[in-house]
Amino acid sequence: METKAKYALVTGGSRGIGKAICIRLAQDGFKVIINYVSNTAEAENTLAAVQAAGSEGEILRFNVADAQATQDAISGWQAAHPGEYISVLVNCAGIRKDNLMIMMPEDDWHKVLDIALNGFYNCTKACVRDMITKRYGRIINIASLSGLKGVPGQTNYSAAKGGIIAATKALAQEIAKRKVTVNAVAPGFIHSDMTSELPEAELAKMIPMGRFGEPEEVADLVSFLASDRAAYITGEVININGGLYS
Ligand code: NAP
Repeated sequence: METKAKYALVTGGSRGIGKAICIRLAQDGFKVIINYVSNTAEAENTLAAVQAAGSEGEILRFNVADAQATQDAISGWQAAHPGEYISVLVNCAGIRKDNLMIMMPEDDWHKVLDIALNGFYNCTKACVRDMITKRYGRIINIASLSGLKGVPGQTNYSAAKGGIIAATKALAQEIAKRKVTVNAVAPGFIHSDMTSELPEAELAKMIPMGRFGEPEEVADLVSFLASDRAAYITGEVININGGLYS
């Protein structure tokens, strides 16, 4: 089957899971648009890795939580690429600000939801019209085990990721007829800056596989969902957690 997809936008592509996804999609032949918010050196490292993988890439810096900035950046890309469109969107940007609810500052509640959940809205809104019009697209949302199970100390993060999962299921039904699929990936503990300060040895004891996952393992799953081979999978949440929760 011919691959119609050419351009993939990965939010939070400068580091961790997003970086691994950029490289994997480059290996799959996509031209990769690498989004980040602050870490320019790491975004440039990702771009170099995309090019080393034999594809083309470009960096598109914007804060996914800022609706106008997101719309402006993606509209600007669209205007600069007439006849092309972003056929794969990976909503990966996210942060965590863990705290018990009783201690949680209002700002930490909003920041986590603004980036993960409103970021999903801002980026998807800007890309989905082209996918629908062209009758082909892949939207892949990086959720979390926290969004399925709920994790104490992560009420904000669990709410954001749970919201993404529900939005994935709703949007999938809206646009399935246009051959646009919408799926979520729910990782457990994956090695990245986000998890670097966690007590890994302790936590690994709870994981049936006895270890944290690697960003490349998540990227392999995203690669499949982004491909033509996943055409009949939509509205799904796929766990990737070493058996920790299902
Ligand atoms: P990470 O290493 O901390 O990387 C976070 C990425 O998000 C960076 O590229 C960062 O850009 C970007 N980002 C943060 N805020 C942004 C904003 N407002 N606008 C645009 N980009 C922004 O995290 P990670 O572990 O790879 O996590 C990636 C995703 O997987 C997140 O959604 C996270 O919730 C999810 N996840 C992670 C795990 C895990 O165990 N690691 C488990 C489940 C789910 P800068 O470099 O510019 O800061």
